[in-house]
Amino acid sequence: MAGSSSLSSLAKRLQGKVALITGGASGIGETTARLFARNGAKVVIADVQSELGSSVSEKIESDSGQPVSYVHCDVTKEADVENAVNTAVSKYGKLDIMFNNAGISGKYDPSIFSTEAEDFNKVIDINVYGGLLGAKHAARVMIPEKKGSILFTSSLAAVIYGGVPHAYTASKHAVVGITKNLAVELGKHGIRVNCISPAAVFTPLAGRALGLDEKTLEEFNLSIANLKGVKLDVNDMAEAALYLASEESKFVSGMNLVVDGGYSLRHSSLG
Ligand code: NAD
Repeated sequence: MAGSSSLSSLAKRLQGKVALITGGASGIGETTARLFARNGAKVVIADVQSELGSSVSEKIESDSGQPVSYVHCDVTKEADVENAVNTAVSKYGKLDIMFNNAGISGKYDPSIFSTEAEDFNKVIDINVYGGLLGAKHAARVMIPEKKGSILFTSSLAAVIYGGVPHAYTASKHAVVGITKNLAVELGKHGIRVNCISPAAVFTPLAGRALGLDEKTLEEFNLSIANLKGVKLDVNDMAEAALYLASEESKFVSGMNLVVDGGYSLRHSSLG
């Protein structure tokens, strides 16, 4: 992903921090890994796409000059998640930021009559249980330090009608609820928990799920935008994650940061 030309490239807002990003080989996770590294973080990318994850890690490391590692991790397998967290700690000494971002859309048919148990459960397993496992193992190493920032990726589909499959909608609503639960449970240990809810941005997931190319999605976003003329792109999600990961949000917890340019204030459905 191309670098953002935003202000955050001017200051190192995560200097000395260690971040683990699930789903970091692609899309929002990859872009966030790049932005975090540019802001001084040491980053571990955890993903199921080993070849891509390794090459993305190497590229970000050489571009940013920060240590970036890849670890194979299926977020639905507790041993993998435990190993990913342990890798961050053994390589870089600690874990400050856990970004539970890995997700799938599932079979892209929003009808109840097309909703099948196997697909439904797979989406919930990855998007919800995978995130919970990430939070659990991050908390295990953050609690003794009495600090940390845990993030999740929810979706605009948790805020308004998104026209997306039931499993995906259910999973992203669940993420918002879990964020609130964990913010209370882990707050007493000094750990903040927040999520971001992206509007539709072009990534491999969005391309696969919506069957749109980048230009069509950009035109769609511009046509529905509340902020007229402002283009939404994947860097906007990374910037939101950067804010919630950094000390600048030190009194923000349990929140869902909706990155939709205000669209959901004016519309109750997408499109
Ligand atoms: P993406 O497909 O580019 O990235 C998702 C990554 O997750 C991939 O690298 C994939 O290999 C990884 N992944 C999938 N299953 C995994 C598993 N079991 N274990 C570990 N990694 C796994 O998609 P993206 O758009 O960047 O999606 C990132 C997150 O953003 C997802 O949670 C998605 O639901 C959410 N989201 C995306 C959009 C959008 O428009 N792109 C909008 C709202 C929310």
